[in-house]
Amino acid sequence: MGIDNIIAKLASVGADLSTRNAVRMALSLISEDEELTDQIYVEIKNKAYKEDFAKVPVEKRAVFIPQCLRNVKECPAEFGEYGWKCTKCGKCSIGDIIEYGEKLGYKQFYIVPGGSLVKKILKEKVPKGEIKAALGIACWPELAEASEKLSILKIPLQAVPLLRAGCINTLVDLERVKMALEVGLTQESKNPAFSTDMNPQQTL
Ligand code: SF4
Repeated sequence: MGIDNIIAKLASVGADLSTRNAVRMALSLISEDEELTDQIYVEIKNKAYKEDFAKVPVEKRAVFIPQCLRNVKECPAEFGEYGWKCTKCGKCSIGDIIEYGEKLGYKQFYIVPGGSLVKKILKEKVPKGEIKAALGIACWPELAEASEKLSILKIPLQAVPLLRAGCINTLVDLERVKMALEVGLTQESKNPAFSTDMNPQQTL
């Protein structure tokens, strides 16, 4: 059963889907695999925050990119206060993501090694009003955790899952990243940030 169908089934029985724990409980009631918890929670939050994200000016949106997408062997980027400084050398997809985002007006890209640097950046920039929305690329559990924390901070998140997770050489659906970047900036109908039909072969 696809994620959309499972969400519809849970909604039809009036299940509480407001938190990760609630989703976990609801899945156990309909005998579905608990591993789906994070996927369903993230997809629900993506939908819930789409409109709020769309209203945030592009320069106030932060894009968080995991360092595992880098070409570790050949990446010439240096590590700075806010993560890796991509030179857009063309050896991995991060340069393409940044280039596409910049064309749309994005100014804030953070290539981060993990959640602790994300927390530091948010702690510093949210109170100053420099970050009012976030687009995050990560594995499902990290996205679910970020979704929970950003909800508390009232920062709308659009989350894009990695197609292949791990510590190095991960993979993301770049079409999905591009369309998530476009939320609120182009025709609404083009945004599949909530689509669950992921094609592992899709690239820019
Ligand atoms: S595109 Fe950026 S992140 Fe990727 S290998 Fe080159 S400098 Fe590193």
